[in-house]
Amino acid sequence: MRIADYSVTKAVLDRHGFTFKKSFGQNFLTDTNILQKIVDTAEIDKSVNVIEIGPGIGALTEFLAENAAEVMAFEIDDRLIPILADTLRDFDNVQVVNQDILKADLQTQIKAFKNPDLPIKIVANLPYYITTPILMHLIESKIPFSEFVVMMQKEVADRISAEPNTKAYGSLSIAVQYYMTAKVAFIVPRTVFVPAPNVDSAILKMVRREQPLVEVKDEDFLFRVSKASFVHRRKTLWNNLTNHFGKSEEIKSQLEKALSQAGLAPSVRGEALGLEDFARLADALQEAGL
Ligand code: SAM
Repeated sequence: MRIADYSVTKAVLDRHGFTFKKSFGQNFLTDTNILQKIVDTAEIDKSVNVIEIGPGIGALTEFLAENAAEVMAFEIDDRLIPILADTLRDFDNVQVVNQDILKADLQTQIKAFKNPDLPIKIVANLPYYITTPILMHLIESKIPFSEFVVMMQKEVADRISAEPNTKAYGSLSIAVQYYMTAKVAFIVPRTVFVPAPNVDSAILKMVRREQPLVEVKDEDFLFRVSKASFVHRRKTLWNNLTNHFGKSEEIKSQLEKALSQAGLAPSVRGEALGLEDFARLADALQEAGL
């Protein structure tokens, strides 16, 4: 029997008198086939260390611990710490860290792996209310992980992995795809969780690129420009850029110069631009003095 078997999950919850906290995004997985598929998608074996975010009562942690060298799991909810000590008592390769992942000093924490030189993968069933902040925090944390295999709301997974000229494409696709390749591995129905969330989920596999997809002078400026270009999706690039930078004659002439240098028509929409276009645009805007 596994922690994720429905009867075991229910017994654990009853034994500890646990009640779900919606504000922590607590939807626990009760499907062992899906857990095996997550481990297979992440290609976890004894040559990798895993960081997990939000172990809950340990459904995914159990599968990770069996397959990985070591698991470090960050859980914000104090009430789950004694429960995890109970459910994971047979494993000597799991460390549960009672911390908010967004506040954890990951550079220091990962030194606590027994073998800190092994490659790190991040595997999780994420708390949906902070999916994007968690992804950006980890990507920007500079910890040397090679892959993310995480469950999230299907709609967010679609946005992250979207291609230009699709409805789902936007600044989130650009922010993640700059650093990582992103592909939906499989869809997970809402019925396999307790309690069931009111959206379907997807497993997204993201692999870190050896270097960012495009070369740009100022990364923060690139992300600012891409965000500004999608503020009003139905409007042209020109409209969005003048809304963001200003509408004075001087600014308009700087914008015209930059667009022409980047080879982009003012009438184009942000959703038609790929990362290379945005990189060229950002560099040209800066050169024009914006
Ligand atoms: N991994 C378990 C599973 O698959 O059954 C639970 C997944 S549940 C969707 C999300 C988990 O993340 C919960 O255990 C919740 O308490 C935890 N969590 C929420 N916010 C967190 C944060 N900021 N840092 C660490 N853990 C968090």
